[in-house]
Amino acid sequence: MRSLTIAFASALALGGPAFVLAAAPTASAQSAAAFELAPLPYAADALEPVIDAETMNIHYGRHHQGYVTNLNKAVSETPALQGKSLEAILGEVSAHPAAVRNNAGGHYNHTLFWRLMAPQGAGGEPSDALSAQIEKDFGSLDAFKEAFQAAGAQRFGSGWAWLVWTGDKLAVASTPNQDNPLMDDAAQKGAPIIANDVWEHAYYLKHQNNRGAYLSGWWSVLNWNEANRLFAEATR
Ligand code: MN
Repeated sequence: MRSLTIAFASALALGGPAFVLAAAPTASAQSAAAFELAPLPYAADALEPVIDAETMNIHYGRHHQGYVTNLNKAVSETPALQGKSLEAILGEVSAHPAAVRNNAGGHYNHTLFWRLMAPQGAGGEPSDALSAQIEKDFGSLDAFKEAFQAAGAQRFGSGWAWLVWTGDKLAVASTPNQDNPLMDDAAQKGAPIIANDVWEHAYYLKHQNNRGAYLSGWWSVLNWNEANRLFAEATR
């Protein structure tokens, strides 16, 4: 089983074809509690032209699958993590090696990210409750969007832009690498409401070095229905 896992990791590193990823050889090598890559909630080309199909296939099938594979490997090598939920692992992540941090964060962040997008015209609008809170904390929806885009644009290197519920207000934040607001050592803790991936792998094939064009175009594929649900859950 170990050799199967290594072969799988090698195929990933070499950019193996997508059908290799579907073989899921780790299923028999690991416990039933192993983390899994959920299906994309839409077709790979559903978010075009903002996110092209090739970017989506590589991002979901190779990058996200890689985080899942490597998280399962890290958990299998760390008895203290076995049986813990992803949220529980993130909440104590500073006590664990970088491989746990990067891959647990990567799996959580991307699972959220796919759900927070929808084909153009299908994402709905901000709910009355979320609109009212955005207006209270940022002044207007446009002012929030400006702050969120600035957080994404100013993140040097790789990372994420966030809208989080801190417990008494909404806040915009950004994190490096695959860090997120659930981590015990996050500078801005909170419940994620909106998240955007600003790693170059999220946009480079389509937008090249123009991260700003990706950030401004991204609003048209934001799934407000999911953001509304996360806000309702966080403020319940
Ligand atoms: Mn990514």
